[in-house]
Amino acid sequence: MIMGFKPCLSHGKAAEVEFPVELDYHAFMTSGYREVELDALEHSLEGELLRDRAHRILYATDASVYRQMPLAVARPRHEGDLIRLVEWAGKTGCSLVPRGAGTSLAGQAIGPGVVVDISRWMDGILEVDPAGRRARVQPGVIRDRLNRDLKETGLFFAPETSTTDRCTIGGMVGNNACGLHSLRYGSTREHVSRLRVILADGSVEWWAPKSPGEIEPDTEKSGTTGRVLRGLDALLNEPGARREILDGFPHPEIPRRNSGYALDIMAESRPYNPTGGDFNLCRLLCGSEGTLALVTEIELCLEPLPPRYRALMAVHLTRRQEAYLAAGLVLEWNPDAVEMMDHHILALAGKSPEQRENRFFVKGDPGAVLLVEFARGDEDALIHDCEGLESDLRGAGLGTYFPLLRGDDMNRAWALRRAGLGVLSRTPGAKRPVSVIEDSAVRVRDLPRFMSAVEDRLAHFGLEYVVHAHVGSGELHLRPMLDLHEKSDVALFRELGEEMARLVAEFRGSLSGEHGDGRLRAPWLPLVLGEANMRRLERIKDMFDPEGIFNPGKIVRVPPVDSDLRTCPGISPATVQTIADFTAEGGLATAVERCNGSAECRRIKGSPGTMCPSYRATREELHSTRGRANMLREFLVRPDAAIHPLDHPEVSLVMEYCLACKACRAECPSGVDMARLKGEVLQRRIDHHGATLSARAVAAYPVLAQIGMLWPSLANTILAGRLTGGWLRKILDFASQRPFPRLPSWREQVGLRRAFGPPMNPRRNGELLFLMDEFSFAQDAVVARAAIILLRRLGYTVKPSPRIRSGRTLISRGFLRRARTRAAVNVGRLSGRVSDAIPLVGIEPSTLLTFRDEYPDILRGSLREEAARIGSLSMLLEEFLARAMDRGEIDSRDFSNRYLHILYHGHCHQKALSSTEPALRCLGLPANYVVEEIESGCCGMGGVFGYERAHYDLSMRIGEEFLFKAVRSAPESTVIVSGGTGCRQQILDGTGRRARHPAEVLLEALDGP
Ligand SMILES: Cc1cc2nc3c(=O)[nH]c(=O)nc-3n(C[C@H](O)[C@H](O)[C@H](O)COP(=O)(O)OP(=O)(O)OC[C@H]3O[C@@H](n4cnc5c(N)ncnc54)[C@H](O)[C@@H]3O)c2cc1C
Ligand code: SF4
Ligand code: SF4
Repeated sequence: MIMGFKPCLSHGKAAEVEFPVELDYHAFMTSGYREVELDALEHSLEGELLRDRAHRILYATDASVYRQMPLAVARPRHEGDLIRLVEWAGKTGCSLVPRGAGTSLAGQAIGPGVVVDISRWMDGILEVDPAGRRARVQPGVIRDRLNRDLKETGLFFAPETSTTDRCTIGGMVGNNACGLHSLRYGSTREHVSRLRVILADGSVEWWAPKSPGEIEPDTEKSGTTGRVLRGLDALLNEPGARREILDGFPHPEIPRRNSGYALDIMAESRPYNPTGGDFNLCRLLCGSEGTLALVTEIELCLEPLPPRYRALMAVHLTRRQEAYLAAGLVLEWNPDAVEMMDHHILALAGKSPEQRENRFFVKGDPGAVLLVEFARGDEDALIHDCEGLESDLRGAGLGTYFPLLRGDDMNRAWALRRAGLGVLSRTPGAKRPVSVIEDSAVRVRDLPRFMSAVEDRLAHFGLEYVVHAHVGSGELHLRPMLDLHEKSDVALFRELGEEMARLVAEFRGSLSGEHGDGRLRAPWLPLVLGEANMRRLERIKDMFDPEGIFNPGKIVRVPPVDSDLRTCPGISPATVQTIADFTAEGGLATAVERCNGSAECRRIKGSPGTMCPSYRATREELHSTRGRANMLREFLVRPDAAIHPLDHPEVSLVMEYCLACKACRAECPSGVDMARLKGEVLQRRIDHHGATLSARAVAAYPVLAQIGMLWPSLANTILAGRLTGGWLRKILDFASQRPFPRLPSWREQVGLRRAFGPPMNPRRNGELLFLMDEFSFAQDAVVARAAIILLRRLGYTVKPSPRIRSGRTLISRGFLRRARTRAAVNVGRLSGRVSDAIPLVGIEPSTLLTFRDEYPDILRGSLREEAARIGSLSMLLEEFLARAMDRGEIDSRDFSNRYLHILYHGHCHQKALSSTEPALRCLGLPANYVVEEIESGCCGMGGVFGYERAHYDLSMRIGEEFLFKAVRSAPESTVIVSGGTGCRQQILDGTGRRARHPAEVLLEALDGP
């Protein structure tokens, strides 16, 4: 049982009541006055109070194994809203759960009261004072955004988590976060100079370090601060208390100590330790997980950017144990970071399309890799230390290979290390690496013994596990493989947590090094800190928050460790018959459950990659990949929702803005493939409710286009006509701003048909089958002709495939069953024609790549095998040309020498399923063509998505993110190039500039001087 909302008939003190752990909002909200209370709150806020089921589901989870339905979600606009929330909570007794990006791993960003999402609106950088090396920010600012803004000043906010591109400074304060470079910079606590807080009585205060003389007058104050100072003073002055605290808390040599409230630090400050630092309540608040006060502004101490001369040594070790032994030796060289990844993580990273390339420095199959970073003032010192370390390690018989990474290679290696936790979710099967004992820290010198003891315990339980770690700080992220749907594994989960706590206590370690206690570790805190210290922590909570309104059930007075699990132990997730094949993942539900909440899909604008365009443009959890996965999980896993798990209004809501761009398939470290899941959801909706006219028309586009091509001038007149086109757009629910694609004239159609033939060059480079899909013959006949002529002039025989309707429009509207039939027909038609010697080459990524991606997924039996064979022999024109370059079939002498600057935008499917690298290479083939890729993410078109009235605005907003700006600011002489038909249309509609296909540009380059 957990404390919920307290009745407040008189707004006076009411008796506390307990509600079931699974607090059912609808049952609970039956009595009218509670609705009235929430109504009153809603009206008093300038920000939003979201009370609908969809939002409550989205905020019921963070990155932990827990799920708790909140009563509502508040998104305050400013401090005034926060004060109103606190006052309201004080009156009603409803709890407030502060939340940033919700990337906490121990359940501290969820709870049954009102979740207060500070990340949405309170993300201002209020003041930067470079001279004083200070920045004042609102708590919702994302750490990477702050540092991007600070770059010009030569300063930065140093603590760094693996979630640095999405986690908020407020959340970092809440968890006292730290990361890769904590050896050099410590944790958030050391970088906060002042905090502006809202206390339980609604008062607002700035907290800052105080000398004993300054504290005394404050002790006399009424209100929360006075009560806290008096209470702390009494607590720390009790006989023997200070000694008990200092002995009971983790060893001071352990730099990462994030367990309980930082009472040991308070006990070490003046006046309790006359030689200590100033007394500072900010230090207590850091790491208090939103349980003591709401933070409304943060003043940060900034550090100068690290020295310019940096290198990363990737020490290859044979066994994991060697990493623990090596850590002490490495520290003697005063490195800036020492991190470790074990062979499991390295192997899983190999399966992540995004991370695979970041493994470039790993040679063979090491048992573990230690990443050691040095930053030094000059190159000589850097090389001296790197060589010294290598020689010491070799002398100690540790390490087999010591590559030294510099420049961008270092960033890539660190990206791999940061993705560590995420890629773990790629583990196949029902057992997943679970956060339970993943954050313990001990003294570095104790690591080898500690890890032997841990390994013994895990072996005793017969458990597999994976490790990555901040070994330089004595901290291990160690995750055993468990299936929390199984009651037996839940029992193990509990037992392991307790065992680990006892072990940590033996070594006087810290149960949490950085991720915090939340509700995952807090139950075991008494075993580590001792019962007496635990009572002291409870007293602290009561001094700050006597009514228990701030994030109850975290750090102290926590519910059982195995309550509120996401998984519903003992109940299997719903089994869903799917069209795509989810066998490899263990079924559709398991594919959804791969999402662990780590929130890479909430990365900010300007982050590398494309995922997730709808989130980047809206900054709404509802439109993130995580939001979508959480919604699906809710209905697949919860027993009360299993009748039609994929067909719920809430599921439709989250899928509405998914562009099916497939970026998550490539970039989500856990491999959540939302486009694929969306297809299943749409098919289910069609099965139960029928398809809309618009969906039917879009699905039938290839047929309709073929009919229109019989008399193209008439069809184009109708499509372009103000009245006729407008009427068509209206009945199709298309945006009035979007012109329909033009159909090719008879001349263009004939031109395309006649383009095929033998090489137009004495060279004989081979033969290929040109994919005549719906885009090539009906929309881009001119581009298709250019591609064919280009290929023939480069020495290839180009034969046409039969006219193929690829099924892309069927898939995008959810007609998966019909797409399967179409795929079967197409495989049959192409089967005898495609071979190693005669590959299938196409110009439109969204159709050509269907052969590689969807066909083998939706077909079965021998057809599937044949589809996979054809898929492996299908390539985009750019891929074909890049391969031809590698074989020496074509080279720059074939092309013009004139100078041309090209800005290239890659299609999302191309980025997800292939790469833009072949396109960049072949466009750069003419000697003086300079090609730059626009870091554009998604263009926003998403096939037909951008044509639809309901999506047009979002589509344009996504385009505005980066692509349109880059195109608009390019000089007229620069040629904009993209392989996607939709991308080129979007560029035209958004900027007025006509983009070209690589085929057109290269064909022109053949003719140049
Ligand atoms: C893949 C992965 C890797 C991670 N790596 C690291 C790592 O390297 N180092 C590390 O330290 N952590 C790590 N974490 C944990 C987490 O990302 C960080 O602690 C991060 O700083 C949390 O920020 P957030 O914005 O997501 O906060 P949230 O999770 O939303 O909140 C964190 C805590 O702060 C409280 N809080 C938030 N805002 C306020 C406020 N305004 N006032 C009062 N309390 C507030 C919340 O109640 C909560 O208790 C990792 C998590 C994941 C999923
Ligand atoms: S969808 Fe992927 S990136 Fe997003 S939270 Fe889930 S696991 Fe992380
Ligand atoms: S397919 Fe694209 S829009 Fe949809 S969830 Fe994945 S990244 Fe986001």
